[in-house]
Amino acid sequence: MTAILSNLQAARKAIVQATKTANRNVADVRLLAVSKTFPAEAVREAYQAGQLAFGENYLQEALDKIGELRDLPLEWHFIGPIQSNKTRPIAENFAWVHSVDRLKIAERLSAQRPPHLPPLNICLQVNVSGEQSKSGVAAEEVMQLALEIASLPHLKLRGLMAIPSPATDEIAQRIPFARMRAMLEMLNSQGMMLDTLSMGMSHDYPAAIHEGATIVRIGTAIFGDRTLGGEK
Ligand SMILES: *Cc1c(COP(=O)(O)O)cnc(C)c1O
Repeated sequence: MTAILSNLQAARKAIVQATKTANRNVADVRLLAVSKTFPAEAVREAYQAGQLAFGENYLQEALDKIGELRDLPLEWHFIGPIQSNKTRPIAENFAWVHSVDRLKIAERLSAQRPPHLPPLNICLQVNVSGEQSKSGVAAEEVMQLALEIASLPHLKLRGLMAIPSPATDEIAQRIPFARMRAMLEMLNSQGMMLDTLSMGMSHDYPAAIHEGATIVRIGTAIFGDRTLGGEK
């Protein structure tokens, strides 16, 4: 058995276990395999193990892989920082964007989404830990930005995404995830119909699932250590 296959099986098992402990339906948590820095062949291997949704951070690398894997029915998610002059290839090649944190980017993605494709699924990235250096919209501004983005014609606002600052134990990890869940509930109580919390990575996805994650973004635990391949 290859490492990718056995890692995927272990991650799926851990997700099932976390949903059971949290008393949640396993069908409500999707696994996004984060393939950044790994070659197209690794993605192909994960596909052969039944994985269809892949997350990428670096646009050029992602476009190369998407091109190489055109023969497979994959669903591509953009999860990295977005430069405003790079929105067109994102609008043209991805099904989801998790890292929208300002209106200008959303407007460009909507305007550039090809009309023959379904609306681009969007998550607002929230700076949930309030770190100066981190991308993401401040918690106080989420409501306003969500309302503005929800009105754009070629986007479908699905929910919120976050990358909390690291914490070692599960109790501490759960605090920012709980804030995210409260934010999503607040938006829905104001009439929005959001169904997505994109949160949880290799080191903290069980905690995220406990607090309501519907997409966990897992890289290292599936493909291995990126520093071996050279982190970008
Ligand atoms: C790299 C990355 C991940 C995956 O991180 P791992 O720790 O390797 O699981 C998830 N989300 C985002 C936004 C990332 O940049």
